Amino acid sequence: MLVPRTPHQPDRPAWDCLACGEPWPCAPGKVELAEQGAVHRRSLRLYLESCAIDMIDDRADGHRASGRDDGIYDRILGWFDASPRASAGRATRRAA
Ligand SMILES: [Zn+2]
Repeated sequence: MLVPRTPHQPDRPAWDCLACGEPWPCAPGKVELAEQGAVHRRSLRLYLESCAIDMIDDRADGHRASGRDDGIYDRILGWFDASPRASAGRATRRAA
């Protein structure tokens, strides 16, 4: 699984950014994740899915995370699913 190269990582179980303290994924973290996701989109989505599951687990264990409890998909995955796909994706589909 891809581990993104960015200092903007989640600090569990609070889920604030280790680098800037904003709720993760923060704005600069999203920019860096999206840049890496342009090349490794499926790997990055797997990483984000694992983060969403970790956040659900942390909340099930009673930890209070920053942000809304009902918005885990939107917060962790929604912005990435809405981001434009790279042209590399088109080349992959053509080759398939
Ligand atoms: Zn950050």
